[in-house]
Formats: sequence, C-alpha cells, structure tokens
Amino acid sequence: MQQKIRAKFQEYFKTEGSVFASPGRINLIGEHTDYNGGFVFPGAIDKGMIAEIKLNGTDKIRAYSVDLDDYAEFGLTENDLPKAGWAKYIFGVCREIIKRGGEIHGFDTAFAGDVPLGAGMSSSAALESTYAFALNELFQLGIDKFELAKIGQSTEHNYVGVKCGIMDQFASIFGKAGSLIRLDCRSLEYKYFPFNPKGYKLVLLDTLAKHELVDSPYNKRRESCERVAAKLNVEFLRDATLEMLEGVKPEITEEDYMRAKYVIGEVQRVLDVCDALEAGDYETVGQKMYETHYGMSKLYEVSCEELDFLNDVAKECGVTGSRVMGGGFGGCTINLVKDELYDVFIGKAFADYKAKFGFEPKMYPVVISDGSRQLA
Ligand code: ADP
Ligand code: MG
Repeated sequence: MQQKIRAKFQEYFKTEGSVFASPGRINLIGEHTDYNGGFVFPGAIDKGMIAEIKLNGTDKIRAYSVDLDDYAEFGLTENDLPKAGWAKYIFGVCREIIKRGGEIHGFDTAFAGDVPLGAGMSSSAALESTYAFALNELFQLGIDKFELAKIGQSTEHNYVGVKCGIMDQFASIFGKAGSLIRLDCRSLEYKYFPFNPKGYKLVLLDTLAKHELVDSPYNKRRESCERVAAKLNVEFLRDATLEMLEGVKPEITEEDYMRAKYVIGEVQRVLDVCDALEAGDYETVGQKMYETHYGMSKLYEVSCEELDFLNDVAKECGVTGSRVMGGGFGGCTINLVKDELYDVFIGKAFADYKAKFGFEPKMYPVVISDGSRQLA
C-alpha cells in the first residue's frame, strides 16, 4: 500500500513527501461501558490508513483520496469546509489543531487505507489519527498523544456530526503490537496488557446487517442506566455492585434491572479479562466474551438474529470466544479461535449463514499491531 501511495503522490505532485500511518481498532471486551464510566479494552489492528504529505508553502491543502479516486482543495479557515465527506476529516483535524493554538500551513497529500468502511473497525479514527499525528510531527507542534486523540474525537463531533467517545482515536494513536489497552472512561487512565494469543487467531465476521431502529434504542438504554445509578446514589453504574442492584430490584422496572445487570457485569468482565491475560489464560478470556454476548443479547437486548446466529455457530464449533463487537443491532462478531479449528469454523460460518440469510458474511482476520507512526 505504501508503494501505491508513493507512486500516486509522485504522479500527482511530482515530488516526495513524508509517510505516516495509523490503524483501525478492535475492542476485545467492554461494550456500552463508556457512558457508564467503566472500562473499554481496545487494541490497534494490522489494517489502517497511510498518508504521504509534503508542505507546499501556501495556506491551501491539496488532497487526493487514492481509494475513492477523488480530489479536494481547501483552505484552513472555518468557512473553507470541503464538500467531500472524506476531506472533512482532514479539514476537521486541521481546524481542531488551529483552535488549540497550533500553527499549521498548507500541504499536499495523498492517502489510502485498508480498514473496511463502516464495519466497526473505525476507519474514520484511522484517518483522523493519521493526520493529527502527522501534522504534529511536520509542524513540530509538541501536542501530547492524548490531545491528538481528542483532536480526532472533536473532528467527529464538530465536522462530521458523530458524537463518539474517545476510544477509537485513543486506540489508533496509543496502540502497540502484542498489547491491548484498558482505558478507564471516567479518569482516562490507561494500562497496557499483553495480548499474544499463540495458537489462536482473532477474526471478525461481518453480518453485513444494519438494523436502523426507530425509537433511539441507545438513548433509552442510557436513560435506564442513569435512572438506576441515581437510585443507587452513584455517579455511574461503574460504581455499583450486583448486590447493590439486588437491593433496589423491587423499586425499579424489570427492564432497567436487566440493563443495569448487564452493565455492572460487563465492567467486571473487563477487569477479569485483564487478570486472565496477565496469566496467559485465553480460555477464560473466551468464556468472558461469550458472557458478554449473552448479556448484550438477553439483558441489554442490542443483538440481532444475524449476530446471535454467528455466535451460535462459534459455540457449536467449539470456538474459544465469540461476541458481538460494537454497539449492536448489526456489524461484526469478534472471535478468538484456536488455529486448528479456524478453517472448519470459517467454512461452517460461511455455509450456514448463507443457507439461512441468502448471502455470506465477510471475514476480517486481525492482528494486534502498532498505533500511529511515521513510515518514511
Ligand atoms: P467507521 O466505522 O469505519 O469509522 P465511518 O462512517 O465513521 O465508519 O467512517 C467512514 C468514512 O471515513 C467514509 O465515509 C470516508 O469518508 C472516510 N474513509 C474511511 N476510509 C477511507 C478511505 N480508505 N479512503 C477515503 N475515505 C475513507
Ligand atoms: Mg467512524
């Protein structure tokens, strides 16, 4: 991919620039925990964005999207917002740097990536992190890594209209090969844990399902969580225990009870998985992944037929761990699979899924890899 971008950059701009890369991410466990003040547990993957960049001595940005075969040219002031969706990410990152007092000027750039778009691996964060990291280096801005992640997050909020948390950009910038990162969504403290599943593969299976639900299920679940937290006199459900929840069970609705039970369990599961990883115990990791899937399906009720189907196939095949990844209602399952089971599992998942739904899922093997970096 790097060769391809170099060739394109040469063709477009007749010169050579510096090359930067930032990855997409997975989240091993810790779903719907972020807005409950709990933990998430992401890692960067071996799929990402690569950009070549050279300062051009003007205040204009000239950018090529190699994959979309599209070009955009825009300035650096607030009313220069480009029309192309992909260019808004680059523009947003520039604006967020400028808002923070960073002095940047025009540049020529071309970029491409291999994070599947909209599949739950955060191609958008890979794109933002690439430019945030690169511009910080090229203009020697001295912005710390956490602030670079926030620049990406603010780009989504202010220039794309997606009110995301910090996890995706954080994982893209802070990722490390062989490590997952436990991020405390309340304090923003983080810690690396070893993830070297020798003898196992990590693979995502994409249901290709996207169930748009009309009655804003996310907001409803957030409200359930907030109601129970208030009842328990805690700031977030992260501070509650199952015992505390049992104590108020008669005073809350059955639905709120189920939602809170899932969240409290999930916060604990992240901690359990971290302990298991420190002991190299991947069987326990897998067990917790299944527990998360069960909770998201039966208690939090954010799964769907397609996801449950793939989870069942994993279980039938004896796959070590499997669960829905991301917010739910479609998207991918993430699967921790022993090497010797891999071909059988993938074969069965494809065949059975096609027999049931009429088309095959997509698969994305992933390896936990390094975060943002300069390649050349
Ligand atoms: P995801 O869940 O993958 O982050 P988003 O919808 O948030 O999905 O972001 C996808 C958007 O990011 C695309 O519509 C496009 O604007 C931009 N994007 C991602 N990957 C690329 C790419 N390789 N080339 C150009 N634009 C990209
Ligand atoms: Mg995104």
